[in-house]
Amino acid sequence: SASGGQDDVVERDLADLADPFDPDPGPTRRWTPKRVAITPAALDEPHGVRIVERVEALGIEVERLKGNRLTDVRGETERETYARAKSTLAVVVSPPSRRTLQPIAPSADWRVDLAEGCPAHCQYCYLAGSLSGPPVTRVYADLDAILDNLAGYVGTGAVTSRSRHRSEEGTTFEASCYTDPLALDHLTGSWQRAVEHFGAWDAPVQLRWTTKFDDVAPFVRLDHRGRTRVRLSVNCLPVTGRWEGGTSPLSGRLAALRRLALAGYPVGLTIAPIMALEGWREHYDELLGLVEDAVAGVPDLDLTAELITHRFTAGSKDVLLGWYPRTTLEMDEARRSVKRGRFGSSKHVYPREVMAELRAWFEAELARRMPGCRVLYWT
Ligand code: SF4
Repeated sequence: SASGGQDDVVERDLADLADPFDPDPGPTRRWTPKRVAITPAALDEPHGVRIVERVEALGIEVERLKGNRLTDVRGETERETYARAKSTLAVVVSPPSRRTLQPIAPSADWRVDLAEGCPAHCQYCYLAGSLSGPPVTRVYADLDAILDNLAGYVGTGAVTSRSRHRSEEGTTFEASCYTDPLALDHLTGSWQRAVEHFGAWDAPVQLRWTTKFDDVAPFVRLDHRGRTRVRLSVNCLPVTGRWEGGTSPLSGRLAALRRLALAGYPVGLTIAPIMALEGWREHYDELLGLVEDAVAGVPDLDLTAELITHRFTAGSKDVLLGWYPRTTLEMDEARRSVKRGRFGSSKHVYPREVMAELRAWFEAELARRMPGCRVLYWT
């Protein structure tokens, strides 16, 4: 696990948060891929060249592929393939189908992908079963075209048109559906450019993403104009400590939340996946206490919460057990209810009574501790 000893760093980190412009607030977790490869098509893109320059400046070699397909990812065993893929960064051009955006309720109106895949090792990972093939991280070199394409979507989308308080945010674009932005931005700069793009955009729009990493130093100085809402994905310490390998510790994420809020960003909490562990009330009470401390005294705080309970599908369970065969994560169908979705999919969620208890507790405790925090949805 990546989070040994995180309990004792919580206090020190939180004590150290006064200046959001401090260029060196302490160590952040930065991924160093073992292999970085770029396709010829990606190297034709200005942002592909920028990524190469960034990566090489970090002392990492970039392999120029001969063709537009990534080769040599599979190992002898599934474990080996997993390990190889998870330590590989591929710089590619996004599939043309990505120019047609998909709606992504309840989080946002539209999904925009700047990358696909994530180097961390969460044992419940949402990507398992959603993405096919070895879990390589792919970042998109055609960033300029991806961002230019968004203009056609302004004023459209179901989420903002249905919700009165969210209509103030304009058309929302979610940029973390299939990846974790701050796990990658030191290698790509893509999300920094996206923040600046939205900042300079004279239209009612909002960029959104959520992260389990804390590398926010480059973001605090950007001209964001309040048009990017960054949410920190947080959980109680037993969850972050046991099942979120390779991510930043909770203390770092909360410090990042504070730095962004002090730098004027609208911010948020993605509390996910909420788990009905033994003693969950105490564990989540501890979490909310830490969050409360992290946002204390922030002027004009704009804080939201998105509450997502743990769920799995037959497909995701299968993939996760292949990746983490010894996991202690509970994925027991007998302790869950089946929730049928569209297109014949079905998810294993907590039973109705457990859901109701969790929901009532979270809504009451958030309202009590942080009355200004707007809960956007529960699922
Ligand atoms: Fe998956 Fe998110 Fe964890 Fe990355 S940070 S491994 S995308 S759950």
